[in-house]
Parts: sequence; structure tokens; C-alpha cells
Amino acid sequence: MKLRCTICGREYDKPVQRCECGEPVEFELFHGEPYIGKTVWERFYDFWPVEPDPELSLGEGDTPLVKSKLGKELGIRLYLKNETVNPTWSFKDRGTFLAISHAVREGYKAVGTVSTGNMAASVAAYAARAGLKAKILVSEKASKEKLKAVSVYGADVIRVKGDYGRLYFESLKLGERLGVYFMNSDNPFRVEGYKGISFEIAEEITPDYVLIPTSSGGLFRGVAKGFTELFASGLIDRIPTLVAVQAEGCSPICRAFEEGKERIERFESPKTIAHAIENPHPPSGNAVLKLLREMGGLCVTVSDEEIMKAQAELAREGLFVQPASATGIAALRKLRESRRIEEGAKVVSILSGAGLKTLGQLDIRDVRECPLEKLDECLKT
Ligand SMILES: *Cc1c(COP(=O)(O)O)cnc(C)c1O
Ligand SMILES: [Zn+2]
Repeated sequence: MKLRCTICGREYDKPVQRCECGEPVEFELFHGEPYIGKTVWERFYDFWPVEPDPELSLGEGDTPLVKSKLGKELGIRLYLKNETVNPTWSFKDRGTFLAISHAVREGYKAVGTVSTGNMAASVAAYAARAGLKAKILVSEKASKEKLKAVSVYGADVIRVKGDYGRLYFESLKLGERLGVYFMNSDNPFRVEGYKGISFEIAEEITPDYVLIPTSSGGLFRGVAKGFTELFASGLIDRIPTLVAVQAEGCSPICRAFEEGKERIERFESPKTIAHAIENPHPPSGNAVLKLLREMGGLCVTVSDEEIMKAQAELAREGLFVQPASATGIAALRKLRESRRIEEGAKVVSILSGAGLKTLGQLDIRDVRECPLEKLDECLKT
């Protein structure tokens, strides 16, 4: 399959990582028919640019779509796509699985990524599964808690001193020279893997809106391409309105979108509790801007306070997500208040990653002390 630049349109016959113009490339639009099969990889077999290798799978994808009680209060029909149940507790596994399938097929002995969070853990886990070396490049500031979740898989974790933004591009260059396949945030195979989220949603319902926590833009691009391919295949008759959600303290895409710009600019001094979506210079930012314009999407920012409130609301419904993954619900509240989402609309919010990964950010609530002799009294109140 051919790759095409998302911005300038230049075409490539071999699996390059990015276009010569610096922008991300993506596989040509596929249209075809699904099959009957057990996993999303089987049912949509022809829609992937590389054969998904079941030997390398850890059981990613086919996540539950849960009807939310919050919908009633908000006057809509709300569904939560629970990506926290993936093998390393975030949707990143879908993309890592396809990218690893490609790397193994091409004979790579080592893979890598630039990340401190969910993607690092995901690549480390799938590399372990495939018997490949994993080179995980993290920033100097990466916390102990996060490094533990990566090194447990036996990955080679390297703290890099210097500009973290530049590391993305340096890793692609060096990886090519040294035979390490880097599957960074918007790697073309990774983005393809994310299409499965749209395929699975469409198998169950026809949403009017889909809320997507957005950082590098890989997830947004994957979900957009998934729905676009379903539409091109005649499998759905309309594409939902896609909503990119960013944290107020790091919102380079929404800022450029509101200002009507075609290019994003670096967001200086980013600050948010939602670290998984804290990329100040998203490598697919311009591609997401273009999609938002072409597809009539929305871009919404939410504050840390709104994020924490949404995280608590979801937990009280039994779903414990990390702050980045609660942004969709925080945005939804704003969109309903400003009437940008109409009453009765069918909405899906993507719960991108699990809360256990960010325990350090939480306070303990509602814990009482009780002597054993008074347990009877304590239980009554
Ligand atoms: C990576 C990530 C995102 C954002 O995905 P991008 O592809 O970088 O836009 C959102 N939520 C969680 C939990 C993530 O790990
Ligand atoms: Zn280009």
C-alpha cells in the first residue's frame, strides 16, 4: 500500500516514517468489506496495511462500549469507549501491535519510542512479547513511578538530556541508521491500529459526536481515518462530528484552530495535570488542524479543575481513568452548556487510559476511623 503526505500530498511506495516536507504520512484510504471473525483484527482484516501477527498479540482491542448514566443528567445518550482494559491499560496497544507486526516482518531486532508514559509501557510490553529489544527514550524529568512501569518489561530505558521536542525527529533519523524501528506517537502503522476504535464503535452504534483526548494527534487521525474508511466502504451513511479535546494548559491545536491558522505553533510553558496529553508541539498538529477544517470538527479546551471533576464523576460510575482520559467528559459538559451539542444527541467519549497509572495525583477521600467495639455504630451512619 502507498503512503501519502497528510499535508503536501507527496506519495511514497516504501514505508517511510514522515514526508520530506516534515509532515506525517498516512496509508491510502481503504474501502472494502469486513469479514466475520472473533477479533477486530480478523473482522477488518483488509483494512490494515500489514498483516496483524496473532503471535505478537496481547489481546488488544475489542474493548467495551459502556452506556453512561451521566448521559441522562446531560440530556444526551452517552457511551464510553473503555480503552483502559487494553493489555497495558491504554489504547496505545492497538497501534503498538500493528507497528510491531511491521517491525518483525521487516526483520528488525530492536524497536523504540520517545515517551515517558503510556506509549513507553506499551512498546516495552510488546517488544518483550515479540522477543525484540526495546529502546525507550525518556526525558530527564520522567518520574520514578513512570519508569518502573516501563522497566518492569525489561526495556532499555535511556534518560536523554536535552530538548525533548527534538528527540522525536532525532530518534527517527538515528533509528534508521542503527536498525531500531521507532514507533513514535504518530507513526503511520500506529495510527492505522487506532482505526479499530471507530470500527468497533460503528459495529454497535451510529454516534453523532466522538470526543477524542488529543496530544500528538495520532489518536485523532486514527479515529478520523477509521470513520472515513467505513464511509468510503458504504458501511456507515454519515461520519460523526469529531471533537478534539485538549487541556487548557497545553492546547496548541485548539489555539491555532480558533485563530484560523493552518499551522500550529509551539505552546510555551505547558502546564496541566493531564500529562498524557501535554505535547507542546504535536507532530501531527497540522494534520489534525486540516482534518478539523475538512470534516467540520470541533476543538475544545478544559481546565485542570474541570478534568478532576470529570475524573471523579467517572469513578463514581465505576470507571477509574487517568486525567487525560476524563477530558472528553469535561468537554462534553461545556458543549452542552453552550448548546453546541444538541439535546438527545448520541455521543461517545474515548476513555483513553486507566487511572491506576496516575495514583500519585489523587487524594484519598471518604476514609473514616472506627474502633472495632463501635463498628455497629459506624456501619449504621
Ligand atoms: C497518548 C494518549 C492520548 C493522546 O493521544 P495522541 O495520539 O498523542 O494524540 C490521550 N490519552 C492517553 C491516556 C494517552 O496515553
Ligand atoms: Zn509532505
